[in-house]
Amino acid sequence: AQERYASIRDLPAESRCGAVVSLHMNAGLMADLPSLPSSGAEGVGLFRTELQFLIRNKMPRRAELSALYARVMDAAGGKRVAFRTLDIGSDKVLPYMKPNDEPNPALGWRAIRVGLDKPGILRMQLQALIRAANGRPLTVMFPFIAQLEEFRAARAEFDKAMERERILGHPLPATVEVGAMLETPSLGYAPDVFYDEVDFLSIGGNDLKQFFFAADRENELVRRRYDTLNVSFLSFVQQVIERCIAHGTPLSFCGEDAGRPIEAVCFAAMGLRTLSMRPASIGPVKHLLRRVNLADVRAVIDEARARGDQSVRQAVMDHLRDGGF
Ligand code: PEP
Ligand code: MG
Repeated sequence: AQERYASIRDLPAESRCGAVVSLHMNAGLMADLPSLPSSGAEGVGLFRTELQFLIRNKMPRRAELSALYARVMDAAGGKRVAFRTLDIGSDKVLPYMKPNDEPNPALGWRAIRVGLDKPGILRMQLQALIRAANGRPLTVMFPFIAQLEEFRAARAEFDKAMERERILGHPLPATVEVGAMLETPSLGYAPDVFYDEVDFLSIGGNDLKQFFFAADRENELVRRRYDTLNVSFLSFVQQVIERCIAHGTPLSFCGEDAGRPIEAVCFAAMGLRTLSMRPASIGPVKHLLRRVNLADVRAVIDEARARGDQSVRQAVMDHLRDGGF
């Protein structure tokens, strides 16, 4: 499939109306990095650091982690890599950490909640990232932030790690971006200062959707019950896009839906300009984005909403089919 899209690999995802969407890839292991040049991705929009913890049988040491992150940055060759700090708990249990017996793990003690309550691992990881950057730009993203104070506390950990490295005489990153994943509806309604304080936001649509519709992403009975192009979900995403534009906050979408061409086109039509997806999805998404007029798609979405459609999918698909896509 990659070869089919090779002819557009080095071309921008520029729509008929001239809007350019930046396409990035999701990764989590060294083995994913060769896809960076072959897919045409502009960078790694989500690097899931927990994968490297999950494939081991004991806690990695800071020096090992730092060497690993340096190799990831080397392999990226100067392209931006958004390192997401450890997202464990819920469906991801470390073999060497005592599992918690929680009635609702997805709503439980996970991700940044663990990071802030037991900051040892988070501190080690932040220090390893700063060392790995070794004077290069560094991008760090915190998972599962649900309120402003959690972001502030996580950022304070990062700032402390920077200060420690400075005192130790290690080179600091040339530039630093510290952002948050938007995975709980609460952040859509966070105070304005939240949007000013984060360096960027990335919508984790997999989790966001499960919390928005109260439908477990792991449960076969409900996981496909609600459409991502449901008008309520789209309105929420649109509100986040608009708040980010108003505050000048860079926004991306890195859940699985970003890699589905129709979903990607709808998000772009609502103003989203950065998507991050599995490498194999970049070709198909770019192919469709280059053929549509986003303003026309936006009009179709707005009409479907005005009519009271439950989802805009059918209307958008009809529009694309009429356009010969
Ligand atoms: C998400 O929730 O959409 C996301 C990108 O993170 P993960 O799938 O790793 O939870
Ligand atoms: Mg998530």
